[in-house]
Amino acid sequence: MEGCIFCALANGEIPTNTVYEDEEFRVILDANPANIGHSLVLPKKHGENIFELDAQTVGKAHALAKKVAEAQKKVLNCDGVNILQNNGEASGQTVMHYHVHVIPRYKGDKVGLGAFGQCVELDKEETQKYLEKLSKAVSENE
Ligand code: 5GP
Ligand code: ZN
Repeated sequence: MEGCIFCALANGEIPTNTVYEDEEFRVILDANPANIGHSLVLPKKHGENIFELDAQTVGKAHALAKKVAEAQKKVLNCDGVNILQNNGEASGQTVMHYHVHVIPRYKGDKVGLGAFGQCVELDKEETQKYLEKLSKAVSENE
């Protein structure tokens, strides 16, 4: 898409540190890494977020994220890995081209992901109400 920085990076129009490339994806190093090796899985086709992108591409992106996570564990000897994927400004998404973060983690590191800084309290009735509604919506979306 015209003017999209991740389209340009994914499709090689702007050179960048590439960890992996195939016909549909490019995995690059994040320009502002949370830890060394912090990678981004970018589909070459443009889709703003998970709501715009087809399920097959989303599935392939996550399968590729698994490969990247395994490589990080092997090469960087990290203790854990975060797979993070933001959708929409409210979630913290800043680049509006779908991407999956793969972030190596170490015991005691100071990486703050921000997303889980709160824990909402719900009563049992409310929880049950949303559980049923969500369950129905997922089943209907097959
Ligand atoms: P978001 O908050 O949208 O999930 O994450 C966007 C990520 O893209 C950020 O971690 C940011 O550092 C990274 N980023 C933004 N612009 C560039 C760029 O031009 N090159 C690279 N390699 N990463 C970028
Ligand atoms: Zn794009």
